[in-house]
Amino acid sequence: MAKPTPPVHLPRTSESEKLKRIRHTASHVMAMAVQKLFPKAKVTLGPWIEDGFYYDFDHPEPFTEADLKAIYKEMVNIIKRKLPVIREEVTREEAMRRIQALNEPYKLEILAGIQEPITIYHLGDEWWDLCAGPHLENVGELNPDAIALESVAGAYWRGDERNPMLQRIYGTAWETPEQLQAYLHQKQEALRRDHRRLGQELDLFSIQEQAGGGLVFWHPKGARMRLLIENYWREAHLRAGYELLYTPHLAHLDLWQTSGHLDFYRESMFEAIAVESQAYQLKPMNCPFHVLTYQTRLHSYRELPIRYAELGTVYRYERSGTLHGLMRVRGFTQDDAHIFCLPEQVATEILGVLHLTEQILSDFGFRDYEVHLSTRPDKYVGDDQVWELATQALKDALQTKGWDYQEDVGGGAFYGPKIDLKIRDAIGRLWQCSTIQVDFNLPQRFGLEYVAADGSRQVPIMIHRAIFGSLERFFGILIENYAGDFPLWLAPVQLRFLPVGEQYLGYAQSLASDWQKLGLRVEVDTSGERLGKLIRNAETAKIPVMAIVGAKEVANQTLSVRTRHGGDLGSLPVAEVQARLQQAVQQRQDF
Ligand code: ZN
Repeated sequence: MAKPTPPVHLPRTSESEKLKRIRHTASHVMAMAVQKLFPKAKVTLGPWIEDGFYYDFDHPEPFTEADLKAIYKEMVNIIKRKLPVIREEVTREEAMRRIQALNEPYKLEILAGIQEPITIYHLGDEWWDLCAGPHLENVGELNPDAIALESVAGAYWRGDERNPMLQRIYGTAWETPEQLQAYLHQKQEALRRDHRRLGQELDLFSIQEQAGGGLVFWHPKGARMRLLIENYWREAHLRAGYELLYTPHLAHLDLWQTSGHLDFYRESMFEAIAVESQAYQLKPMNCPFHVLTYQTRLHSYRELPIRYAELGTVYRYERSGTLHGLMRVRGFTQDDAHIFCLPEQVATEILGVLHLTEQILSDFGFRDYEVHLSTRPDKYVGDDQVWELATQALKDALQTKGWDYQEDVGGGAFYGPKIDLKIRDAIGRLWQCSTIQVDFNLPQRFGLEYVAADGSRQVPIMIHRAIFGSLERFFGILIENYAGDFPLWLAPVQLRFLPVGEQYLGYAQSLASDWQKLGLRVEVDTSGERLGKLIRNAETAKIPVMAIVGAKEVANQTLSVRTRHGGDLGSLPVAEVQARLQQAVQQRQDF
C-alpha cells in the first residue's frame, strides 16, 4: 500500500507577489542561458504561469533533454554571478533601434502591440528583454535548488497555426527547495492519480470518439458508484427538507428568452432544434424548470421555504480544445437545488445549505475547504437594500457556521451575491465544487409570487445551490483523491471471493449470491488462476477485501480474509466476515 502523502498547501503565482517576481526573473535567466548556448535562438515571450513559467524560442530544432540539462547548468552559472536586474524606461524609437540591432523580429512585433511606458529589464549589461516586470532586484536572489526545467513543447507564435512553430520550455521556480520538491511530488502524484487513466484501468467510464467529445459513458462499476452517490444524495436531501423533481431535457426556446439565458448565456448553449417548426432548446441549466414548477400554483408565505432538488442533466457548448476527461464535458448532471424563501429566511436557509454541504462533502472524505464570498458587482439588478440584506445574510451564515472566508468584493453575479467553496484533495489541490447563489433576478423575470401575511402578493427570493457541482466532475475528483482506491462503502466491488480450485467455485458463488441479496457488492474470481495470481489481480483492481476459499474453509465454514490495507487477517467464520462487512459499510469504515 502506498504511504499516504500529507496535503501540501502550495501557493500559486497569482496569489503571491514574490512568486511572480521569482518566476518572471527565472524566465529571463533561462532565455539568457538559451541564447548563450544557442546563439541562433530568437526570443519571443516568457510569462509566469500558475505553477511556474515558460519561454518560447524560435529555434530550428526542438530542444532535447540534454539541452535542458545544459540550459539549467548555464542558469546556475548566471545566478551565481549575482547579476543585478535593472529596469530602464525607453522611448518607442529607442526600443526599436535596439531590437533591430539585435535582429529580434518577434520582439519588434511585440513592441508594436505594447503601450507606453516601454520598459526594458537588463540582466547586468549582458542581456535584456522587453518586459513590463516586476522582477527580483538581483538574479542572485534565485535559488538554483528551487528551480527545475520541466519540459519542451511546440507552440505556434501567438497560438496561430499559420505562424511559425516555436519551442516552448516549461520551468518552475519556488522560494525554497522544499517547495520545489513538494510541487514535483504533487505533480507526479497527479499523474499517478489521473482519472482518465484510472477510469480505463478500473473500467469505470469511457468517452468515445464515435459518440462525440465530452459525452460520458458510465460502465457497470462506475454506474454502481454513481447509483450509490445518487442514493446517498437523495436521502440526505429528503432528510434536510428538500422535495425531489425530475424535469425535461429541453424546452421552448422562448423559455430561455424569459429566463435571460438567451441574452446572457448563449455562448454556452447548443443551437436550438426544430420540433414541428417550433424551436426547442437543450437545457444548459435547470433553474427555469424549477421556477415553472413553483409557478404551477399559488403559494402562501406559510409554505415557504420551498426547496426543490434535482439531479438534472444539462448540456453546454464546450469547444473540443477545452474538454478534459470528466472534468470538462458537454453533457453532465448537476446536483442542483433551488430554494424559494422569504427575505427573512435567507440567513437560516444559507446556514442549512452550509450544514448540508459540510455533511455531504465530509462523508465523501473532503474536510478541508476554501470559502469565497462574492459581493455586488458594478452592474447589477435588484435594489440596494435587498442586496445589503442578502449579503449580510450570507456573512451571518458563514460566521454562525464558523467558516473563515475570503471576500471577493464586486465578484458576485449581476443577479445576487454568492458563496463558492473549493475542496482540498489528498495531494493539496483545490477543486471548485459547491456554490450557493442568491438570485433577485429570475423571480422577477418570471413574475414569481407568494401571498404575504397581509394578503398582498410579494416576490420570493430564490437561492440556487449545488454541492458536488456536477456528478461527472465530482466522480473525477473522487477517483483522483482516492487514486482509485475507494473507501469500502463506495467501492464498486467490496469483496472478492478467491476460490483456490474449481471444486470450490460453486460454494463461493452461492455465498456471493447470498451476500448480494443483502446489498453487499461482492463477486467471485472465476479465472481458475493460482492463489498468488488471484491475490495480485484483486490488488490491481483495488478491491478492499479478499476472501480465500479452499478445502479447509469449506470444511470449517470459514473464510481466509485479506484486506487491501490491513494484510492477512487469518481465518474467520463466514457469518462473522459477512456481519463485519455489513457493519463497516454502514459506518463508512474500513473492514
Ligand atoms: Zn439555478
